[in-house]
Parts: sequence; C-alpha cells; structure tokens
Amino acid sequence: GRQPFRFNFENTYALLPKGFYSRLDPTPVRAPRLVKVNVELAVKLGLDPDALTSPEGVEIFAGNRVAEGSEPLAIVYAGHQFGHFVPQLGDGRANLLGEVVGRDGIRYDIQLKGSGPTPYSRRGDGRAALGPVLREFILSEAMAALNVPTTRALAAVTTGEQVMREEVMPGAVLTRVAASHLRVGTFQYFAARGDTEGTRILADYAIARHYPEAAETKQPYRALLNGVVSRQAQLVAQWMLLGFIHGVMNTDNTSISGETIDYGPCAFMEAYDPAMVFSSIDHQGRYAYGNQPPAAHWNLTRLAETLLPILEQETGSEANALVSAKEALAGFITQYEAARVAGLRRKLGLFTESDGDAALAQDLLDRMAANRADFTLTFRRLCDVVDGSESEEGARLLFDEPTSYDKWATGWRQRMEVEPIPASTRAAAMRIASPAFMPRNHLVEATLNAAVERQDFQPFEELLDVVSRPYENRPDLKKYATPARPEERVSQTFC
Ligand code: AMP
Ligand code: MG
Ligand code: MG
Repeated sequence: GRQPFRFNFENTYALLPKGFYSRLDPTPVRAPRLVKVNVELAVKLGLDPDALTSPEGVEIFAGNRVAEGSEPLAIVYAGHQFGHFVPQLGDGRANLLGEVVGRDGIRYDIQLKGSGPTPYSRRGDGRAALGPVLREFILSEAMAALNVPTTRALAAVTTGEQVMREEVMPGAVLTRVAASHLRVGTFQYFAARGDTEGTRILADYAIARHYPEAAETKQPYRALLNGVVSRQAQLVAQWMLLGFIHGVMNTDNTSISGETIDYGPCAFMEAYDPAMVFSSIDHQGRYAYGNQPPAAHWNLTRLAETLLPILEQETGSEANALVSAKEALAGFITQYEAARVAGLRRKLGLFTESDGDAALAQDLLDRMAANRADFTLTFRRLCDVVDGSESEEGARLLFDEPTSYDKWATGWRQRMEVEPIPASTRAAAMRIASPAFMPRNHLVEATLNAAVERQDFQPFEELLDVVSRPYENRPDLKKYATPARPEERVSQTFC
C-alpha cells in the first residue's frame, strides 16, 4: 500500500507550560465526507493535495484519525465579549493539530474547528454546522484573495451527524490555517489571573513567532505592542477600504499576528452605510462598519493593559510603562488614518499626495451614503470611467440621484489632471485596489442553502472560484458583480 503521508507537524505551542492549553484529541464523527480541499493552499503549505483528498486525509480532517506527529490540544484564553469580560473562554470546539512550516518559511497553525467538546466548551456542543463552516470557507478565502491578512480554509468535511441550532443542521468540521491562534484574549487570560510569568512567556512566544525584530530592540515588549498596534491598524484600514464588517470584534477574536480571525456573522456591505450592522447578535451596533476602528483601538487598549507588568519591568517604572503603552496606542490612530487615506488615494487613482485628498474621498463616501451606492461597484466603475472602457452612466446610475455623483466627479477630474498619468496606467492601478467581486450576501446565503438543503455543493464551488479571483474583469459573471435586488437582500447574518 501507499505510505502514509506526512504533515511534518511541529508542536511548539505544546512546549509551553501546561497551563496554556489542554492536551486533547478531536472527537471522532460518525460518517465523514469530504466537501473541499483547498489545493492552492495545500501546495503553499508544502502538502500533497492528493494525499489530503485520500480517505486517510478525510479522516484526519474529520478528527477521526490523529496524523503522525500531531499532538492535538485546545488553547485556553479569556476575552471581552461585547464589552463584558469573561475570564475563561478557550477553544470550546477546536483542536490545534500542530504547526506546519510553509514553503514561504512561515509557521502556520493547522486547527480543526467543530471537532468536539473540550474543557472550554461551557454549554456548547463542541460542534459546527455546515452553513457557518462554508461561510467561513468562502469569506476567509475571499479575504486572502483580496490580499487582506487572514486565517484560511484548508478543508471542509461533513460529519454525518446532526447539530442542534435554531433548527437541526448537518454537522461539519473546518480545517483552519492561521499564522497562529494567539489572541488579545490569550494575554487577558494570564493577566486576569495576575500571572505575570505566564504573560511574559506568552509575550516571548508571540515575539519569536510574529515579531522577531522586537527581540533585537532594547524594549522588546514595547516593540511587541507597537507591532500588534501597527498590524491591527493596517488590517482594519483594509477592512474599511473593502466594505468588510467583521461582526464580532471581541478581544478573543483579535489576533496578535494581525490576521482577520473568527468569521462568524461577518459580511461585505453592498449599499454604503457607515452604520451598517449584519450580525444578528450585535443588537447595539457595537461592531457596526463605522465603529470598527475605535473597536480595534479599544481591544488594543485591553492588550496594552495586560502588558503593563512586563512593560514596567522592562522600562523600570510604572510611569514609564504607562507612557510606553499610551504612545503605542496613540500610534493606532495615526497609522490607521494614514493607511486609510493612502488606500482611498489608490482607489481614486491618485499617485501623489495633496492636502485635499482625504476631503475629496470623504465627499464621495458621503454622497455614496446619501445615495445608497454599492460600495464595491462604485469604486470598480470609477476604473472604467478613467480608461473609458465603459460609459460613465455605469457609475452615475449607482447613485439614487446621479447628479450628486456628477458634482463630485468634476472635482475628481480636476485633481487627476494635476498628475500626468496615462489613463490606462491609472485604471490598471485602480483595478488592483478595488475588486470587481466580493462574496455578496444573497449569493453566500443561496450557496449555503443549496449545500444544507439539497447537498448541492456546485454553487459553493462557483462562488469560491469567483471570489478567489476578485480583481479580474469577467463580464460573463455579471450575476456575481451585481447588488441584490430588494427582494433578494440579506439584512442579517448568523453564526
Ligand atoms: P466565538 O463567538 O465564535 O468567537 O466563540 C466564543 C467562545 O465560544 C469561544 O470560546 C468558542 O470556542 C466558544 N464556542 C462557540 N461555539 C461553540 C460550540 N458550539 N461549542 C462549544 N464552544 C463554542
Ligand atoms: Mg472566537
Ligand atoms: Mg467563532
């Protein structure tokens, strides 16, 4: 027979002290069936896609078999959920199988999500339903294709078991790939227990894994905090520039590596509205689109608090530690704003910096909000306006009152005329800043329904293909680029 294939798992997290996790194998499921293996990602990780799709691979992705070299464990963490601190959360339905060093030299966690109860399950069943697994697969792969730092989906399987949610649903397991599963909430777990040594060990691990340059500085923990602040500022700016709404920006869903993590009731906006909320569990709009930058800053402030004891040791005094923390947090606002404005310039085809640029972009956004213009399409059609590949009507007619667009476009043209850039060059640059395709909610919903209700995975395959090549012009795929009609609109998402 064929030799068993190897993941070449390493288990550096398992080398941390016992209090950091619970060693635990996944709970086997009744009848695993493969839904999808992400071949492109498998290759990037140096894994053999054929082996992953073999019966043995499917058993590993279901948690029915522990791969050679894997030491599965559930990680403990804490977190603020909608502002309320919970001193112990943890992987309640996930097992870290181990780490794989990819062909890019980066170490990745391979995690099963939905793989059975753990000591951290609280009242949960430890399982995941097929719909949310496919939603995370599509949304996280879309984000990866949009060049946004994100966890990714390596595989999905159905379990042959049912899970009880509002209704009975087919069960599934997602294999998630992440730069790590360190969260702000992981630091909060140790800080809340007054475990400064635990905090230090975790900080050293985070530095070694994500911020090795911090170790070379005089104040590594300060450099760690600065690093996380920078990556989160860049990340949230990218979300905002794409119309992405995470939905559950709790501190346990805020990654130390700066990746988007924990795709629950997340969504991309269609009509631009800064107050937009999709999540069925976000009753107060705490994590509305426009609240995401302050929410990230709030989460980073919680991280800074956990680091104060080790910053104090590093800087020599409590007062110095506070100054370091405050300076780092102030950096979020400047870095976020710089990334946002730079991104808006790219979307408007501006190559140079001029003082009025932020106001020009804001004027467009205000008009889009007032005229319910589709966020993705508006920016994409500006590319066509620039090179004349489509009539300007395409952009204008996205606005309830097209003359509102005209009033803005006059100033935009004048601004572009200052720069001697060929139209084709400008349009090409704009098209890599503004995708044609993102996962539109009504299409995601239809895709999940086809899979759950009819075991039809064809729509999932098609949508995944479309959102994996978001910047290409594909005129044949108009359905995927067009906003939902009023009767198709999805106003709530569930996790
Ligand atoms: P989330 O809202 O997905 O970020 O999850 C918050 C916490 O609830 C985490 O500790 C999860 O592991 C846990 N959790 C979510 N769903 C389940 C489930 N079905 N069973 C056990 N724990 C869960
Ligand atoms: Mg979570
Ligand atoms: Mg989750």
